[in-house]
Amino acid sequence: MGDPKGFLKLKRNGLQYRPVCERVRDFEWVSKLRAEKDSEEQSSRCMDCGTPFCHWACPIGNYIPEWNDLVFHGEWEKAFELLNATNNLPEITGRICPALCEYACVLGINDDPVTIRDNELSIAEWAFNSKHIKPRPPKKRTGKRVAVIGSGPAGLACADQLNKAGHAVTVFEKDDKAGGILRYGIPDFKLEKKILDRRLNILKKEGIKFNMSSEAGVTFKASQLTKDFDAVCLAGGSRAPRDLKVEGRGLKGVYFAMDYLTQSNKALAGQKIKPADLISAKGKKVLVIGGGDTGADCVGTAHRQGASCVMQVEVLPKPPECRTEGSQWPKYPILLKTTSSHEEGGGREWAVLTKKFIGEGGIVKKASCVKLDFSQKDEKNCPVMKEIPGSEFEIEADLVILAIGFVHPEHSTLLKELGVEFDQRGNVKTDDNYMASGKGIFAAGDMRRGQSLVVWAISEGRRAAYNIDKYLMGDSSLPAL
Ligand SMILES: Cc1cc2nc3c(=O)[nH]c(=O)nc-3n(C[C@H](O)[C@H](O)[C@H](O)COP(=O)(O)OP(=O)(O)OC[C@H]3O[C@@H](n4cnc5c(N)ncnc54)[C@H](O)[C@@H]3O)c2cc1C
Ligand code: SF4
Repeated sequence: MGDPKGFLKLKRNGLQYRPVCERVRDFEWVSKLRAEKDSEEQSSRCMDCGTPFCHWACPIGNYIPEWNDLVFHGEWEKAFELLNATNNLPEITGRICPALCEYACVLGINDDPVTIRDNELSIAEWAFNSKHIKPRPPKKRTGKRVAVIGSGPAGLACADQLNKAGHAVTVFEKDDKAGGILRYGIPDFKLEKKILDRRLNILKKEGIKFNMSSEAGVTFKASQLTKDFDAVCLAGGSRAPRDLKVEGRGLKGVYFAMDYLTQSNKALAGQKIKPADLISAKGKKVLVIGGGDTGADCVGTAHRQGASCVMQVEVLPKPPECRTEGSQWPKYPILLKTTSSHEEGGGREWAVLTKKFIGEGGIVKKASCVKLDFSQKDEKNCPVMKEIPGSEFEIEADLVILAIGFVHPEHSTLLKELGVEFDQRGNVKTDDNYMASGKGIFAAGDMRRGQSLVVWAISEGRRAAYNIDKYLMGDSSLPAL
């Protein structure tokens, strides 16, 4: 432990956002990197609590107290080695992980938690700057070939692990560039694409083959995969969007969030969008339906595109600002979240049900809504949703974005051809070893788990890689997690 009194002497000091007036004018990262000296100081707040719940809460089991201590002592290289042992993409989780660990930090019981995510980012950036993250191809090859379908964080983590084990890995991706939602979903102001490209360059130099614009089951048949490869990992994400099937849904101007965000990211990357296909918030009254993180990303994007006003509505009631009886430490609580995008403006309303869209000349003009009451409970003590009579109101909107989640993976030709089974929620079903219903066919990430988080996708990719390695070689020296 670095400084036994660090947490008594220092207050939490996390990454600072750039001023709102500056950042809404560009799509660059909302934050600035912290000086190494500041991370060394902040690491001293980790109090060697004995039972590190942060480690338990992190889905990849990062060695948090250990690297905090090393950072405090300026032992950056050792801190990096520890971080590198558990996390394939720390420069990404260090930027966009919701930091499940910090909600379980023991210091968080009666003070602000340690800045774990920011410390993780400092270690990752130190390692890139000092060239400790560099291509390290495996010394020996096994002669086994593995196909990874999908290049999101699950696919990348799985490919990285299997390549380290010496297998010849080919990643197939239907998009023109690798990264999954990291590339075409999460806006640049949260994750600049140069950060992703920097990692992809390393993975390519280490020997992983990337086949872009290559949709398994469409560009080539699924049977080709089972013929050419010794094992396959399905990491195609969970992208079937939840729809709002109300009157007026077919009006022009109502779009799914992923269509809006993907196009915005493509346009920023320099791709030409046909004027007829353009979805832009410029000068528009924007209504974002869905109060989650995807909705927040749409709010931030709309402000940067020059929306005249932005409103976000959520069907569920407003979450509490601090923990309640049902969400005690160290559980991850559902709390009111104010993201960098919310700080930038716009209104938010909770307990609002959208009943229909009203248009003129085939174009959406407003949404008709009603307020909800959740105060009554059913026999299982679950809140019952009731419309409040007389609370009907309208929201003017000429661009409506549906950010109400994803139901399950697209049940694509590939999955049908491979004959995989689905679980009750429509996700790819696997056994405990991540193997789907098909010998040598594995699944990982959102495709197996349902829409989740980057850190969970990495965890799934690593677990699938361990099981694939074991399947191919009889045993595995990769970490089981
Ligand atoms: C808008 C948005 C913002 C988010 N923000 C955050 C955040 O800030 N922090 C966080 O932790 N999580 C966030 N998430 C969740 C997180 O991005 C996902 O949980 C994560 O990306 C899942 O990784 P994955 O690899 O399983 O799937 P994906 O990232 O969806 O990648 C799957 C890839 O597979 C490809 N693919 C599918 N089928 C085929 C096929 N047949 N052949 C070839 N390729 C195929 C797809 O094109 C895609 O590139 C966000 C999600 C969204 C939608
Ligand atoms: S990956 Fe996420 S949960 Fe794990 S240590 Fe980093 S910020 Fe915390």
